[in-house]
Amino acid sequence: METSATSGPHPFPVRRDLAVRAAAGQRLLNDDRPLVALLDLDAVRETAQALHTAFAEAAAPGQPVLHAFAVKAGSLVPLLRLLNGMGIGCEVASPGELALARAAGVPGDHIVLDSPAKTVTELREALALGVALNVDNTQELDRLDTLLGPGPTDVRVGLRVNPQLGAGSIGAMSTATDTSKFGFALRDAGAREHVLRAYRDRPWLTRLHCHVGSQGMPLAQMAAGVRATYELAEEINTAAQRAHGRRQVETLDLGGGLPVNFASDEVTPTFRDYARLLRAEVPGLFDGRYGLVTEFGRSLTAKAGLVLARVEYTKTSGGRPIAITHAGAQIAVRTVFAPESWPIRVTAYDPAGRPRTGEPVRQDVAGPCCFAGDLVARDRPLPPLAAGDLAALLDTGAYYASTPFGYNSLPRPAVYGYTLTGGDANGDPGGTVSFTPLRRAQTLEEVVAESGGDC
Ligand SMILES: *Cc1c(COP(=O)(O)O)cnc(C)c1O
Repeated sequence: METSATSGPHPFPVRRDLAVRAAAGQRLLNDDRPLVALLDLDAVRETAQALHTAFAEAAAPGQPVLHAFAVKAGSLVPLLRLLNGMGIGCEVASPGELALARAAGVPGDHIVLDSPAKTVTELREALALGVALNVDNTQELDRLDTLLGPGPTDVRVGLRVNPQLGAGSIGAMSTATDTSKFGFALRDAGAREHVLRAYRDRPWLTRLHCHVGSQGMPLAQMAAGVRATYELAEEINTAAQRAHGRRQVETLDLGGGLPVNFASDEVTPTFRDYARLLRAEVPGLFDGRYGLVTEFGRSLTAKAGLVLARVEYTKTSGGRPIAITHAGAQIAVRTVFAPESWPIRVTAYDPAGRPRTGEPVRQDVAGPCCFAGDLVARDRPLPPLAAGDLAALLDTGAYYASTPFGYNSLPRPAVYGYTLTGGDANGDPGGTVSFTPLRRAQTLEEVVAESGGDC
């Protein structure tokens, strides 16, 4: 125990193997629960700390920086609570996500609302709670004019802009294309003047927001989006200075979208890489004149999570070995439906949770859903899986278990957080894993109820 303080904790992949071993030993998986998701809470804390540190290193002394976790990446109240405890707020995009943030105790001034389809009710609630609003379009701005009446004072509202820089490697994740549905397009004819006029006419617009995409965006393109946003803010502020003798845009919301490496355990790029790039490309961002907001989702939790599924059967078809597991489209929607864009690593463990080490054989890892494409890995070299083994879907701590798909009325699995006590990188190879529920498994009664059983 003493040595762990000096030698440091196990690196994350070692902790992951210990967690799988403990999950098997503590029978977290059984006939009724053949699928669970696990989240390394220390890894989440370390990642959150790395985010704080990266921007604190880049920012001017005392410059306000709010990191708001994109709730859609990990919509679990205890996770939001943990992050809130580390000073990380929430980026929300629906009434449900706002309710989750509030249930986690996140204060209104640490919440940012970004939905492109906010109803009047949502706008009212956000204003009443002191939640920051990023306005998506002209009609939404008209609504706010009506809601706010003349001369509102302490609201936190800005426009979301689209610098129209083009797509990254995944079209569906690219929000800064010419025809993206998000934000005020800046390069359309007359659009920049329209945005400048909107700020001139509304002194209460004090923020500016941009999120150019999620996963598959090159860092340079993300930085170009931030630079375009910064330059627009400077232009608005120069005009306001001339007209009223004061600056207008006080806060720049840089969005999220730092890509995650799904190919290995290496964390790349890091928050520090990105903050340093921003500092080099847009130095004015960090001279202390603006408050900053970030909205990272995937990069905060993806690598801390895994999905663990029991192999129910194995078979061959057309000579192809196939492992039929309990993890498919219901928990890995994007990987199943867009496998080229969302490949994930799958590793094999024996029924006791020890890594399988056999000679790799090309095989399919299939899910339980009743359609042929329900595969999480195709023709993948893996130690041969056997019935009763465990298949682990790695780097699935964001947008997997917390973003289920209701296909086949499969009950949503439990999500457990885990922490490790004892054990260290150099000496003690062991350690004790404790699990804490982040979400209960859905019961069949709940499946029936949400399927109209009460109608
Ligand atoms: C999805 C989203 C994010 C988070 O994206 P990640 O790729 O998970 O970091 C941030 N801001 C907005 C507006 C989003 O839609």
